[in-house]
Amino acid sequence: MHEWSVADGIVRTVSTWARENNFSEITMVKVGIPSFTFLEVDILKEAFNEIKKGTPLNNSTLEVEFLSASFKCRNCGNSFSEDQVREQLDSIRSEFGEEYPLHLMPALSPSFLSCLRCGSHDLVVEVQDIMVKEVEVKGHGTIKTVS
Ligand SMILES: [Zn+2]
Repeated sequence: MHEWSVADGIVRTVSTWARENNFSEITMVKVGIPSFTFLEVDILKEAFNEIKKGTPLNNSTLEVEFLSASFKCRNCGNSFSEDQVREQLDSIRSEFGEEYPLHLMPALSPSFLSCLRCGSHDLVVEVQDIMVKEVEVKGHGTIKTVS
């Protein structure tokens, strides 16, 4: 399951950061995830709750914010939204199934998507990769961005 790899990455990133800053207890972690990764939040949370044991994140909750992507074609200048390439995303998904390549690497999307106007793959994705956006530290409040 890809969700487990993502949860593992989140726990690792945040616990390393917490140790470097001498924060012993994290109470909340908020991550931003591009919605076209199609990750399952329930599975992600379940994995997070399992992996966090014994780390500074032991008592923390995971919050997920889905980010919608937009694309710009470098060839013809056309801009389009994630919704406009929904069909292309759905077909990548049905073609690859569980091996869907964008679960973990949203930055790869231009290799699989093409411009709706000229068909070029030379696209710029305007969305961040999966990232930690906010962390709440006991006694210190909310701290924005770790990664
Ligand atoms: Zn184009």
